Amino acid sequence: MDLGLAGKTVIVTGGSSGIGLATARGFLGEGANVALCARGAERLEDVRATLAAEFGEARVFAQAFSVLERGAVDDFAAAVSARYGACHALITNAGQGRVSTFADTTDDAWREELELKFFSQLNPIHAFLPALRRAEGAAIVAVNSLLAYQPEPHMVCTSAARSGVQNLLKSLATELAPEVRVNSIILGLVDSQQWQNRFEGRADPTQSRDDWFKDLATKKKIPLQRLGTPDEPARALVFLASPAASYITGAQLEISGGVSRFA
Ligand code: NDP
Repeated sequence: MDLGLAGKTVIVTGGSSGIGLATARGFLGEGANVALCARGAERLEDVRATLAAEFGEARVFAQAFSVLERGAVDDFAAAVSARYGACHALITNAGQGRVSTFADTTDDAWREELELKFFSQLNPIHAFLPALRRAEGAAIVAVNSLLAYQPEPHMVCTSAARSGVQNLLKSLATELAPEVRVNSIILGLVDSQQWQNRFEGRADPTQSRDDWFKDLATKKKIPLQRLGTPDEPARALVFLASPAASYITGAQLEISGGVSRFA
């Protein structure tokens, strides 16, 4: 199926690793131009150079900054627009989870987490909205987690923030229609840098990577009996952002191997 992305421009926040990197590859494979950002300049430049060697210098652009710095996000949007013109899609993916219970989350940690979850959406959306509105059938697709609906006691603050983000996205789907569609994916567990870090800090250092991930899937009762791979959510992001999904807005797609317990 032709997704209709050839020659279009897509922004992927947090594009230097995991799901964001797999998504950037997916868009490039469909013929789109891709603009990426992440905080770590060195890793981002390695990724940019690798993708540019594979897909062509002209089709990849990268800038290092935090999506929490509004001015830097605005500068990025200006640079992307100057290079490519209108933007067809924005993938708001940058971020990470916070492991903490109610008892051990300080007020400052609450503020930090609420800022990360909300402003990692708000800053790129504000910055790219004019360029999205200049495109025909533009789309925003946000990356979120099942925690928004199925909170975990050891991730209290992340879960609450993620729930608010789903609510925000629903409002935006109405307010930005009909020019810009707004959808999200809600993830279970996907094998990426975050889980690699937890594996590296495992209690039993003799346990193999395979065994540790198998145990995790069993503990989490994932019906498909494994974590997702980054290209699995990436494929959904590419589809939802594409003209092939032209009548989908205000929707959320669960990508979790069947782990959710809500209807
Ligand atoms: P990775 O850690 O592999 O990738 C995260 C990416 O985001 C990196 O490129 C990182 O680069 C970038 N990033 C993080 N914070 C910022 C920031 N403030 N500004 C700009 N870039 C940033 O993780 P995943 O691929 O797993 O995660 C992608 C998204 O999916 C995240 O939002 C995560 O919370 C969400 N998610 C992941 C799940 C999973 O199981 N993997 C489950 C549920 C949700 P750098 O550090 O250099 O900035």
